[in-house]
Amino acid sequence: HRSELKRFIARPSRTGDGKHFQVHGNAELPIEFERCMDAGVDGIGLMRTEYLFLDHRIPDEQTQYRAYRNAIRAMGGKPVTIRTLDAGGDKLPDSLSLTRGPNPALGLRGLRLSLSVTDLFRDQLRAILRASAEGPVRILLPMLTNVEEIAQARQLIAECREQLRGEGLNIDPELPVGGMIETPAAALNVDAMATELDFLSVGTNDLIQYVLAIDRQDELVSYLYDPAHPAIVELLDRIVRIGRRHELEVTVCGELAGDERAARLLLGLGVTHFSMPPARVAAVKKSMIEASAKRCREIVERFRSSGDQRGDKLLERLRHKGGS
Ligand code: PEP
Ligand code: MG
Repeated sequence: HRSELKRFIARPSRTGDGKHFQVHGNAELPIEFERCMDAGVDGIGLMRTEYLFLDHRIPDEQTQYRAYRNAIRAMGGKPVTIRTLDAGGDKLPDSLSLTRGPNPALGLRGLRLSLSVTDLFRDQLRAILRASAEGPVRILLPMLTNVEEIAQARQLIAECREQLRGEGLNIDPELPVGGMIETPAAALNVDAMATELDFLSVGTNDLIQYVLAIDRQDELVSYLYDPAHPAIVELLDRIVRIGRRHELEVTVCGELAGDERAARLLLGLGVTHFSMPPARVAAVKKSMIEASAKRCREIVERFRSSGDQRGDKLLERLRHKGGS
């Protein structure tokens, strides 16, 4: 089965009816970048940086620079999207000794946290900007809820770039800055967000958690976890449509993108960029290469207008009938 799947890694990323798509990797540890290369990804769609902060010591600029530079080098010229620290919520690195608020999922986390400790944030931004001399890099901002956060982050990025220029380093002024669309506010307000961002990345793990009000780690309510819930499908459709209107690339980097059936749902909604753990690449590519994007779209549209509420039924239909 494994080797049968592996054949798909080398195949062009095109659906049965000729639609092009891109498969990027989610990676954090050095070994994962190698695995992404072996899986033939088009780039890194999500480099999480939390692991650098897991030690009891906060990594300084130089330590971070080395990690980012190595990741970029490992990808041999393929683009690397580096997400700024997404601590808080379910990710509580030891080095930051974060005080747990009454509800960590709704507290000081992601970009909110970075903007509250700007000295640390500057270290990370400087490290990323310096590493960008090694290859194509994009910056991704996590846990956005409003445009002001984007403006603040962009301001800090601009300041760090100027500082580095003063130190004799010429950093690409066009370095793209994108945002995670993973809160209901960002999804509903995506039109305004899109005007301030260079690309969008949909984090379905958090988006589903916040829209369905289900803690992604709570097994007591996992029976309610429906990744193709009509509310989720509607929001995804909205993000993709509005992103396209702004001519922005929309990548889905949450777990949905790495699921064979859900990838067909995304395909039906018009998603062309997928980012997933390297171990998922072959299976998802197979599902998409064997899919008809047109038929997937028809299945999704028909299902939505039927009023049927059961997401798992939609996913099963896409599995059985979404082929070309
Ligand atoms: C997400 O929320 O879908 C996502 C990709 O980010 P993380 O899983 O790291 O929160
Ligand atoms: Mg997230």
